[in-house]
Amino acid sequence: MLGALVRAARSPLLTGWRPRALLRPAEACVRACVPRGLRPIPAAGCCCWRCGAAPEPPGFFCSSCRALQAPDRRLDYFQLLGLPRRFPLDPERLREAHRRLQRALHPDNFARSSAVERRHSELQSALLNEAFAALLRPLSRGLYLLELELPGEPPAAGEAEAEADPALLGAVLELNERLAEADNQADVRRVAASVEARLRELEDKVDLAFEQGRPRDARPLLRQMKYWNSIGDRVKERLLPR
Ligand code: ZN
Repeated sequence: MLGALVRAARSPLLTGWRPRALLRPAEACVRACVPRGLRPIPAAGCCCWRCGAAPEPPGFFCSSCRALQAPDRRLDYFQLLGLPRRFPLDPERLREAHRRLQRALHPDNFARSSAVERRHSELQSALLNEAFAALLRPLSRGLYLLELELPGEPPAAGEAEAEADPALLGAVLELNERLAEADNQADVRRVAASVEARLRELEDKVDLAFEQGRPRDARPLLRQMKYWNSIGDRVKERLLPR
């Protein structure tokens, strides 16, 4: 039982942004960027791949020729979706931002466009989905924020510490036992409420850590959140819709 929980907590999460290999600069970019002293890297959004004009942020479309651009890898997921970079996030606001941008950038809109724009729309649309998935749940959002705040420091570092935290493992095991013994929905709902309460408490602490500029303090809290999330998923499997 414990082994399964540890494995679930270790499973790779979609934590999002990684630098990607840059595309080869288009000729228009080389012509436009080199004289301006810029490095020609159109995949990073330095200039329009078609006309060479400098794009205006957030730079989905060229302000001069309206061509759809490749994703600007300098933007983080929050910037991409036009949301403030902070841990608390209203899921409805996130859904709305994702829907609005997908409506503008979805490949269906570019079926009759050039091959380059069709490709860009596929990349933009996939990136939006990636950003949405990473920011939706508090755990993956917190881990992503940690990557942004502490670049180069792996968020999963120190897993062994959590495994050696007897208080945490004891609490998780106790709830797991209560779940195993629950033979009616009322009991399962009580376990669900305990898990929910733990998660809310951790979210508040993570929020405070980021808010007060102590991102390193968020790391052990997020590690704990992984355990509570995995037990929360088990509880959900047992919960019947009311
Ligand atoms: Zn252009």
